[in-house]
Amino acid sequence: MKVITSVSGMQRLALRLLQQQRRRVVVPTMGGLHEGHLALVRRAQQLAGKKGVVIVSIFVNPIQFNVTNDFRHYPRTLQDDLKKLRRAGVTIAFCPGEKEMYPAAAQTAVETGELSKYLCGAARPGHFRGVATVVAKLFHILQPEIALFGEKDFQQLAVIRQMVADLNFPIKIVGHPTVREPGGLAMSSRNRRLSPAGRVRARCLSEALRECRRLARSGVRETASLKKKARHLIGRNGRVDYIEVVDEKNLHPVKRLEGRCRMALAVFVEGVRLIDNCPLASPLNLC
Ligand code: AMP
Repeated sequence: MKVITSVSGMQRLALRLLQQQRRRVVVPTMGGLHEGHLALVRRAQQLAGKKGVVIVSIFVNPIQFNVTNDFRHYPRTLQDDLKKLRRAGVTIAFCPGEKEMYPAAAQTAVETGELSKYLCGAARPGHFRGVATVVAKLFHILQPEIALFGEKDFQQLAVIRQMVADLNFPIKIVGHPTVREPGGLAMSSRNRRLSPAGRVRARCLSEALRECRRLARSGVRETASLKKKARHLIGRNGRVDYIEVVDEKNLHPVKRLEGRCRMALAVFVEGVRLIDNCPLASPLNLC
């Protein structure tokens, strides 16, 4: 596996791969790699095929953190991550330092619109601007044909799809289902910051989603009662940042389940902000 830390070195290699017409499949990450990331890597390898290359980027992007403490405490486990990627048979790891990605105060950014108004966008001002900007930079550096993103961050996935369409990036965006621990907890780099008891309590997110999904299937349509139920199930296990049900297309909050909707929530457990989501089907539109 090639480990590249310089932007210019990576860009040269990416352009060479492009000229050789080798398929480039990219998995952007912030490290702290877990089975969820590795599932994306395996899917990327399938999509790349024998002659293609998989590039995994590892970069903790400072401009998407609106809380300094969260940035400071974000897991940084580069050597361990590289070991995992080597074992997985990844071709290239791109791990630039902060100065390499942002050598000077940048004056240009990708502005995101309507899709970033709700959910994490409302709870974390500036977050998706930071995400879209770094992903656009990574796309210019890595020149992928395909890029993979997880549905665990489904608002991020929607924002990136929109950016790619709006700014004409010639890149196919592929979503990957959320990978969970056996108890249901969505895998996340932030889970490392939880105590064993916290990990058990953090199951309340997926349990609340599962119960609301069951209620939706059994005919409950008012999202207010679903949100109330979810809040009740989370109870003392964590502090709710938001619980919302949105239309999957535009991410606007909805009052009644109609068409394709998704419940999304963010909950602090032991001070660690965790997110999760799942589709909610109305009885006429089971998914
Ligand atoms: P992160 O390192 O948290 O920024 O995540 C890098 C990519 O992996 C993003 O596209 C995430 O949505 C995805 N990802 C993180 N955790 C999971 C998971 N549990 N299941 C599926 N994808 C995930």
